[in-house]
Amino acid sequence: MKLFNTKTRKLEDFKPKDPEAVSLYTCGPTVYSAPHIGNFAAYIYWDLLVRTLKANNYKVKRVLNLTDVGHLSSDADTGEDKLEKGAKKEGKTVWEIANFYIDLFKSDFKKLDLLEPELWARATDYIEEDKLAVEAMIKNGFTYELEDGVYFDTSKFPEYADFAHLDLKNLKAGARVEFNEKKKNPSDFAVWKFIQPGEAHAMRWDFLGRPGYPGWHLECSTIIKKEFASLPIDIHTGGIDHIPVHHTNEIAQTFAETGSELSRFWLHCNFLKINGEKISKSRGNIITLDEIEKKGFSVFDFKTWLYQGSYHNERNFTWEDLISAKVRRLNWRNSVALLFQLPETARNKKSPKNRNFEAKILDLLNNDLNSAAAFAHIDSVASELTLDNWKFIEKLFALNLIPEDLTPRLAEKIEARLKARLKKDYKTSDKIRDELLAENISLLDAKDKTFWQFLN
Ligand code: AMP
Ligand code: ZN
Repeated sequence: MKLFNTKTRKLEDFKPKDPEAVSLYTCGPTVYSAPHIGNFAAYIYWDLLVRTLKANNYKVKRVLNLTDVGHLSSDADTGEDKLEKGAKKEGKTVWEIANFYIDLFKSDFKKLDLLEPELWARATDYIEEDKLAVEAMIKNGFTYELEDGVYFDTSKFPEYADFAHLDLKNLKAGARVEFNEKKKNPSDFAVWKFIQPGEAHAMRWDFLGRPGYPGWHLECSTIIKKEFASLPIDIHTGGIDHIPVHHTNEIAQTFAETGSELSRFWLHCNFLKINGEKISKSRGNIITLDEIEKKGFSVFDFKTWLYQGSYHNERNFTWEDLISAKVRRLNWRNSVALLFQLPETARNKKSPKNRNFEAKILDLLNNDLNSAAAFAHIDSVASELTLDNWKFIEKLFALNLIPEDLTPRLAEKIEARLKARLKKDYKTSDKIRDELLAENISLLDAKDKTFWQFLN
């Protein structure tokens, strides 16, 4: 399997340290507001990564964190904690805000049929481990203390700039908004923040003789060290925005605490735009999964649209493009629906076109998750695919293509309609047709059999 590794900036052969337990960590959401389709893009891409690893017969241990403390509105360790801000805005406690948005995130995750991580790791469950990590960094000489926190001295880690190819000499204070003048180097960052007298910060823990809370980057290195058998882990994923600050800092902290590298492979996904514009609350152009559904689409149409491109590229979402993804998925669903209406013996008929189909799809995905090429191949042989082929596709992409739950009920309805027609009870037979139409299922009367298909 080949993956593009941000660390080396090359496409590399990926082999896990232990095929029985691929260690995979994904930076999760900050749980202070409703996630939008841009946030979900990452989890959809990484779901394909997990499923592809599994299709290669690896067992995966995946940890996904939930940031419920310490993520400030600026990457320069200033500004308000996002959770505190969310709580103020909604007139709730920070804990209520965190619980609410964790539940929402998890239910959207389920709605998208994304594989649950083996562990959801909530940042505030790791405070004691955070403190031990800070103590180790202090002891190993990587930090200094300022009035507002314990800072990581990035000049003590000679490889600090390597991961993101940072130009530290020219990294001026101005490059990072609201730069703390007292920091020794512009790239230094807080591993622990002290709460100033009078400062409202509901989440607080005593440490080093004062109330405070962990710096945002700390949770990820702490969770990884605690939850995986050994360092470095196999794969760490995130968004491209994590490269210059968040992941660079995670790497530095792990080195300062343990002397080890954090991860062998790093995968980063690019950003989503909407109608060519950056997604932002201030532009008011945020789209959530709810809105996708309200406009008559399925969240699986959105997944289809996303997999039509690569996680490496910036993607521009438009409703028009979502329609073409929907049509593609509808064609696939109806190909599968037809197979369910054939005798069981005819559902897995081999043909030259479907020979080696599964190996071919896996081959394409093993090339840095090339789902776009896999989709093109599916289209080129769709009419010849067997039910087993479609089940293989579903196992990788989870697009809700297999109508297994639906078919017995539909067969019953079609049978009842046929009986009514034989009795010339057209009122009943029309009623059944209309009921199915209301579910966006249409009936096609062939010579001696009635077939059904999805309309939406
Ligand atoms: P947040 O919960 O605000 O920290 O966002 C979590 C992560 O979602 C970010 O760090 C990004 O990696 C990702 N993200 C945010 N906006 C977008 C976007 N428009 N497209 C893709 N990913 C995004
Ligand atoms: Zn992280």
